[in-house]
Amino acid sequence: MPPHIAQLILGHHDINTTMGYKAVYPQEAISGHRAFIARRRQLRPSEEYLSPSDTEWEEFLGHFERRRVALGDCGRAYSTSCIHEHSCIRCPMLRIDPAQRRRLEEIRDNLLARITEAEREGWTGEAEGLKVSLNAANNKLAQADLTEARRAEHVHLGIPAYRDIAAATLTPEGPREH
Ligand code: SF4
Repeated sequence: MPPHIAQLILGHHDINTTMGYKAVYPQEAISGHRAFIARRRQLRPSEEYLSPSDTEWEEFLGHFERRRVALGDCGRAYSTSCIHEHSCIRCPMLRIDPAQRRRLEEIRDNLLARITEAEREGWTGEAEGLKVSLNAANNKLAQADLTEARRAEHVHLGIPAYRDIAAATLTPEGPREH
């Protein structure tokens, strides 16, 4: 385990305190990683080590760009497309951005109004479907609050997130309904 993670778990204010308990790191980690790389190089065919072309690199970065949605980030695997018809509010792959809480509240309020209308008009099937979405929206709101609470506890290590550094030059796919 990296020492800065152990530091957080143990609640040490100073990482040197943590390092005092695990003095063999980093030699142990470095030698273990080198052994792992050596094993992988023996197992994998050499053609897999070719440098990516500009097109391949753009495609790779583009995947992460295309996973950004209005309410946060889509967590689907690399090189896969959305199989949930972009119904993000109901999708477990959606990682909510707490900054979009207001947008989520608007979606929830809109769903409540549409459920009221559907029940008033006797559109039972419509009301049932909307209630599923409402339940999902409430779950996402809870997820946003949980994420925000966790962030408040985090110690920022100054390491940029991937979305901060990825510089893709993509043509957007167009607006999506989420
Ligand atoms: S529905 Fe949205 S969050 Fe789910 S896989 Fe599709 S794009 Fe991603």
